Amino acid sequence: MSARIIDGKLIAQQIRAELKQEVARLQREQGITPGLGVVLVGDDPASASYVTAKETACAEIGIYSDDNRLPADTAQEALLALVDRLNRDPRIHGILVQLPLPRHLDESAVLQAIDPDKDVDGFHPVNVGRMVLGERAFISCTPHGVIQLLQRSGVALDGAHVVIVGRSNIVGKPLANLLVQKGPLGNATVTVCHTHTRDLARHTLQADIVVAAAGRPKTITADMIRAGAVVIDVGVNRIPDASRKSGFRLVGDVDFDAVKEKASLLTPVPGGVGPMTITMLLHNTVESARQHALSATR
Ligand code: NAP
Repeated sequence: MSARIIDGKLIAQQIRAELKQEVARLQREQGITPGLGVVLVGDDPASASYVTAKETACAEIGIYSDDNRLPADTAQEALLALVDRLNRDPRIHGILVQLPLPRHLDESAVLQAIDPDKDVDGFHPVNVGRMVLGERAFISCTPHGVIQLLQRSGVALDGAHVVIVGRSNIVGKPLANLLVQKGPLGNATVTVCHTHTRDLARHTLQADIVVAAAGRPKTITADMIRAGAVVIDVGVNRIPDASRKSGFRLVGDVDFDAVKEKASLLTPVPGGVGPMTITMLLHNTVESARQHALSATR
């Protein structure tokens, strides 16, 4: 039997429509327009296209974005001064510093300079700590997107065994922490695998849900999946493709065509997790504006 393909674009559109309504309500009832401060340092084409996509998505639902594109040789002090200005700007409810930063910049120091209450990427240690403790926090966008995809596709997390392949700070580790939280979006049993895991297939074959976030094509093949399992492919890899004008195409970490015949539900690449990541950034920005409005009325 062929897997049902989870349409990440459609689910993202549904969430964006809900957010657009919430933005309109905030404007109407509180006179607040959610604002996102966007910072891009350098001219890496992939980063520039991500930033443009994020700003376009903001505009579509009524979020104001403050675009800041700085040259590649920007000094640490100048970048920190910009973050400080955005931290103080009352029109800004979220700050996004596009990663990776050029090598001469201290990424960790820049992320830690962001006010945790405007850290809509959820990378600040305060938000990571709050998330691990199960407190209200900005949750990083890709793990949050994966959980929303699962929930909105009717996949039960309660009691499920989830095997995550990858332990990065932006995907694997936060996702594992979220899934083990007590509550409706958690209650899963989680195994986290990485390059030191012995016999990866032995673990993935036990999973009700496999999340691939390794950054390597065909890390997950059909023989590694239990019949009927749910497979979420976070990976985005460029592979050469002479038939495309660009000379490449995007694939995930999962051998899609073969796994489709084994899994019950599967995300495509592109069009699966990717659209959800930007959507959860919008969600966090709107939520931040809502929280600022609430604290102003207290
Ligand atoms: P990363 O920092 O490179 O981490 C990759 C993780 O996968 C590491 O923990 C690594 O283990 C593990 N790994 C790599 N090969 C493996 C293998 N053969 N078996 C088991 N584990 C393996 O990558 P990332 O930032 O988490 O991103 C992962 C992928 O998701 C990339 O393709 C990235 O482009 C994509 N991504 C997509 C989105 C989206 O919105 N769709 C967002 C973020 C990332 P070690 O720790 O032992 O090295």
